[in-house]
Amino acid sequence: MDTKPQPHNVMEIFFRRSRAHGLKVTPQRTVIYEELLKARDHPTADDIHKRIVKKIPNISLDTVNRTLLTFSKIGITHVVEGYGQAKRYDPDVDTHHHFRCVRCGCIIDFRNKEYDDIAVPDEIAGKFEVTRKKVVLEGLCGKCNNKKEKGT
Ligand SMILES: [Zn+2]
Ligand SMILES: [Zn+2]
Repeated sequence: MDTKPQPHNVMEIFFRRSRAHGLKVTPQRTVIYEELLKARDHPTADDIHKRIVKKIPNISLDTVNRTLLTFSKIGITHVVEGYGQAKRYDPDVDTHHHFRCVRCGCIIDFRNKEYDDIAVPDEIAGKFEVTRKKVVLEGLCGKCNNKKEKGT
């Protein structure tokens, strides 16, 4: 069952959330959000900037950076857990999980009902308020695994 919202609905959510948070829906913000939605690679602000600079030549990386952080604050984007590198953004705010390649850093989405329902350990539940659960699996992606076998 594919429950992913259709692009039209997603833009609706974007407009509604922005308005609810007093955030003006500017053409720049709309383009940034649309570009992020299209991305399946959990891009950095720099990646998004490179992709939209063709459409908006005078947009600065700083603007893209700040806009993505604002999107995260109002909950229409998630920041992917960091590894000391540039922040990466995830347009998919529905519950899903990640496989991360430790070599090339690619992040692949997957969905799994059992992981969604995973129990919070008592030592955590007793001390903290858990607002989101995400399972991150690490290893080598297909491409990197092939390279390893070839010995390169
Ligand atoms: Zn890889
Ligand atoms: Zn993701």
